[in-house]
Amino acid sequence: MQLEIRNLKKRYGNQWALNGLTVTFGPGVYGILGSNGAGKSTMMNLLTDNLKRDGGEILLDGIDILKLGRDYRKILGYMPQQQGFYEQMTADTFLFYMARLKGLNRKQAAAEIDQLLQVTGLAGERHKKLSGYSGGMRQRVLLAQAMLGNPKILILDEPTAGLDPKERIRIRNFISSLSRDRIILLATHIVSDIESISDRIIMMKKGKLIGTGTSADLMERV
Ligand code: ADP
Ligand code: ADP
Repeated sequence: MQLEIRNLKKRYGNQWALNGLTVTFGPGVYGILGSNGAGKSTMMNLLTDNLKRDGGEILLDGIDILKLGRDYRKILGYMPQQQGFYEQMTADTFLFYMARLKGLNRKQAAAEIDQLLQVTGLAGERHKKLSGYSGGMRQRVLLAQAMLGNPKILILDEPTAGLDPKERIRIRNFISSLSRDRIILLATHIVSDIESISDRIIMMKKGKLIGTGTSADLMERV
């Protein structure tokens, strides 16, 4: 499996958020590192087809994701940045709703939700409304949601943003435990978030790729 971004462009007004980004991902965990405004979220929104691009290609095994459409979205998991989402739903209801949107049948949905609530440590809180959840619990629900349907491509936008060290480690451990036969992209501006769990690091600046390497390479450069 190969996900290839070729000369990807996106602008807002007359400002280029992505200006000819080219990078290829295979199975493994990629840390996408870049300061605020580097274009990480824009890249992820284009990879998840939540945004219209202004140029370039995104190819999964040689076929553009726009052409793959639903077949692509079915193998995709996306954890967006935290937002005020579905506040009045319980975790259980929220996950069930998301599972149904992803096309899982009721039985599959129930089984996967049980398992994901276990591994994210939320089983005891599943009937509480999200409005009463802490920041860390919300992040874990969002992560569980991204894992529904056992996606082959997992896109995580700042999964540990705003968390205390304990919750941060919890999320990191969960990501580390995932099998490496999928493509996992993890955007962050925190180096320590990815040095331990990434197989490769992708560095972005001003909408372009400025470097790739292993965590060890990166540590030598900073
Ligand atoms: P990040 O942590 O990725 O830098 P931001 O705080 O920049 O996120 O952006 C949060 C949301 O606001 C995103 O949905 C992004 O698309 C949008 N956004 C970012 N910059 C602007 C801008 N200059 N004008 C309007 N919306 C923006
Ligand atoms: P990152 O995720 O690395 O912080 P973003 O992709 O959020 O970067 O932003 C890249 C650039 O695009 C920034 O200059 C940001 O202000 C701008 N931008 C992002 N979203 C919007 C938006 N919805 N409207 C206008 N500008 C935006």
